[in-house]
Amino acid sequence: MINRVLVTGGAGFLGSHLCDRLIAGGDDVLCVDNFFTGDKRNVVQLSGNPRFELMRHDVTFPLYVEVNRIFNLACPASPIHYQFDPVQTTKTSVHGAINMLGLAKRVKARILQASTSEVYGDPEVHPQPEGYWGKVNPIGIRSCYDEGKRCAETLFFDYYRQHRLEIKVVRIFNTYGPRMHPNDGRVVSNFIVQALKGEDITIYGDGQQSRSFCYVDDLIEVMLRMMDSSTDFTGPVNIGNPGEFTMLELAERVLKLAASKSRLVFAPLPSDDPKQRQPDISLARDRLGWRPKVALEDGLKETIAYFRNLISA
Ligand code: NAD
Ligand code: UDP
Ligand code: UDP
Repeated sequence: MINRVLVTGGAGFLGSHLCDRLIAGGDDVLCVDNFFTGDKRNVVQLSGNPRFELMRHDVTFPLYVEVNRIFNLACPASPIHYQFDPVQTTKTSVHGAINMLGLAKRVKARILQASTSEVYGDPEVHPQPEGYWGKVNPIGIRSCYDEGKRCAETLFFDYYRQHRLEIKVVRIFNTYGPRMHPNDGRVVSNFIVQALKGEDITIYGDGQQSRSFCYVDDLIEVMLRMMDSSTDFTGPVNIGNPGEFTMLELAERVLKLAASKSRLVFAPLPSDDPKQRQPDISLARDRLGWRPKVALEDGLKETIAYFRNLISA
């Protein structure tokens, strides 16, 4: 059966890789994006394919289309972008979820929500299992994103309980790879662009805070597996790579792989910046038979090659 798949946020970093994989798998894809952080160039390779359609639309407004699967990814994901217009960020998560759930209800589509490790806030439990409820500041500068995503999860589970929708919720941990926005302020893109331009590498705080980085191909694979999983498996399920590195370690690896002579400089730590983060992926391993395969070193090489091209273009 050919699926008719809606991908919201499909012109963004993760969304565009997802569209590529869905098209390669033979599905019909409707990519919806308001191009706030996404870019038509991310999906230019698909234009002209009769199974691919690109639509400019903001998910905070209702959308009437006929599909049988929905991947809801629309939402700026990096702090500088989601803090640019925080009210719009909450609206995108909350009104966007209501509209996409309303759509899924009307057309009886299966719907997957791209949630985030940020629902755990600055966690007191390490690594984070899905059963941990998190430690989130409700009124801080990250709250528009964290609480917006938490409310979206609530809506997904209430539509599931109240309207028996087929829902899937994935909590995505830090992911990197080609087509990340070069100016989105995220650590991997920042460090690589700085290293390639010979600019100072900006370490926030003392650089001892840690993150776990997943390469985009691994992440898209598990999102597809989740969408195909049995109806009774709703999640939430953590997806990410448990390999954990401090920001100092990441900087050193990027410098080496990019053969860069950039210096490390230290800048203030943003408020509410989590000290450590690592997914517990036992559930994804048990239920989806998945584990990430791409080592940080290999993923960084691909990402550096992408940014090298972009910068020289
Ligand atoms: P991205 O910014 O590249 O993609 C988001 C896309 O959504 C962009 O194309 C943007 O233009 C679009 N968008 C934003 N607001 C919209 C609106 N109101 N209507 C329609 N489109 C809108 O970010 P990404 O890294 O690809 O993230 C995709 C999803 O995955 C997001 O929901 C994000 O919260 C989630 N996520 C990503 C990561 C990560 O490390 N990349 C981690 C956790 C969660
Ligand atoms: N909605 C949409 N597309 C549809 C069906 C619904 O965008 O195909 C929106 C609709 O505008 C509504 C929201 O989804 O505001 C929630 O729909 P639901 O049917 O759950 O609630 P209600 O319409 O009763 O508020
Ligand atoms: N960070 C950094 N230098 C930068 C950008 C980010 O040291 O130029 C740090 C940031 O303070 C955080 C970590 O890298 O501790 C990851 O930041 P990112 O914004 O990529 O992801 P998130 O904080 O949402 O996990």
